[in-house]
Amino acid sequence: MIEVVNPATEEVIERLEAATTEDADAAVARAKAAFPKWRAVESADRGRLLRRLADALDAEKESLAQLESRNTGKPISDARDEMGMVAETFHYYAGAPERLLGDTIPVSGGVDVTFREPLGVVALIVPWNFPLTIASWKMAPALAAGNTLVLKPAELTPLTALEFERIAREAGIPEGVVNVVVGPGREVGKRLVEHPDVAKIAFTGSTEVGKGIMAGAAGTIKRVTLELGGKSANVVFADADLEKAAASAPVAVFGNAGQDCCARSRILVEKGVFGEFLSLMEPAVTGMRVGNPFDEATDMGPLISVDHRENVASYVPEGAPVAIRGEAPEGAGFWYPPTVLAPVSNDDRAAAEEIFGPVVAVIPFEDEEDAIRLANDTIYGLSGSIWTQNGSRALRVARRIETGAISINSNTSVRVGTPFGGMKQSGVGRELGPHALDHYTEVKNVYFATEED
Ligand code: NAD
Repeated sequence: MIEVVNPATEEVIERLEAATTEDADAAVARAKAAFPKWRAVESADRGRLLRRLADALDAEKESLAQLESRNTGKPISDARDEMGMVAETFHYYAGAPERLLGDTIPVSGGVDVTFREPLGVVALIVPWNFPLTIASWKMAPALAAGNTLVLKPAELTPLTALEFERIAREAGIPEGVVNVVVGPGREVGKRLVEHPDVAKIAFTGSTEVGKGIMAGAAGTIKRVTLELGGKSANVVFADADLEKAAASAPVAVFGNAGQDCCARSRILVEKGVFGEFLSLMEPAVTGMRVGNPFDEATDMGPLISVDHRENVASYVPEGAPVAIRGEAPEGAGFWYPPTVLAPVSNDDRAAAEEIFGPVVAVIPFEDEEDAIRLANDTIYGLSGSIWTQNGSRALRVARRIETGAISINSNTSVRVGTPFGGMKQSGVGRELGPHALDHYTEVKNVYFATEED
């Protein structure tokens, strides 16, 4: 049995029977059986079905947000934004089936054309931090390209995925096209990774598990996309609008209680303004409202589990350089206060490892070259920010930081229409935008001889 817990109250909100490897096999078999029909649906009709699904998700946005908030502890206002993005992602990819264009390539003796073919059954394995949102980034392009799918949500947060399965069915997505299995990663997830009838794994989760998935997929030469961990740098130059940068820096790392792969969990600040920046940041940290996720004014909820809180706390041992600390409730719930460590060296454990909680390391730098060196001195490369009023510097530094996405004078990374994914050990491939479709299609080349012999 899987006991689903509300991390803000520690109450069990649902008990589910855990899927087994046999259930995973059955889900793959259903998806395999549904594939020929789904790929043959006319592209305009497939688009229409996805649009209907997007409308249904829009209509159920509020109840999905409440469920997501109860299962993850995230503030209801954040959950509403996320469910808005889920529907928007389906609206965006509903336009894709009719735009999966091929090429015509000049060749001698004939005509050459390419087609974008679906892969077949794709298995999608997702984490607990943005459960339905991350699943939608994979499901929408997968379905638009004509694949059928098996979705495995994280054991801690399966509830919105199960609701999605119902909504898809009611919206008219044919039987067997969308299949959800709720079970342990090490059994059910592993089985999907090794299953001979699964053509591709799209995984979001930790870098450690991602490595195992890449290795496991090798046995059947599966296509693999991986969205993994991060330790992104928020680089603040002395010539930045410091007030704006400091006001936004806490949200950029404490949003979703720091359980965000894009968290700007290293703030690199130019030496001359280090103290001033910390003073400017203080009210934004101490003013964060941590508490009841269903209170509209709440900025930050609890961590996902007691084990995770223990792990986060291990990064702030006795004697750690705690420069600023916010408040957190006591009693039931996996609470942890927003915590700013400063000054920290880039080699310290808190600066080197992904904490995935509300703890940020603030690191001083000397000059532009030093900032780039420190930003790149990590195994990760997922997102990041640059704050400066010098446009040439902004672009120069943006090009040199080894990361899949970077924002200038902003701390946001994710938009439905733009590619998102990591360099280095933050992953392989891109989600969202037009690029995601490349990972759910194969290019087929067809040559037609036109010369008479
Ligand atoms: P996790 O790697 O522990 O689990 C992710 C999923 O993989 C879960 O569904 C889990 O059941 C499954 N899984 C676990 N072991 C497996 C195995 N051996 N084979 C197949 N599947 C297995 O990650 P998590 O703790 O749920 O999520 C946190 C991590 O996710 C963080 O490292 C975070 O940075 C990362 N993340 C990355 C992105 C991104 O887009 N790059 C987004 C969100 C989260």
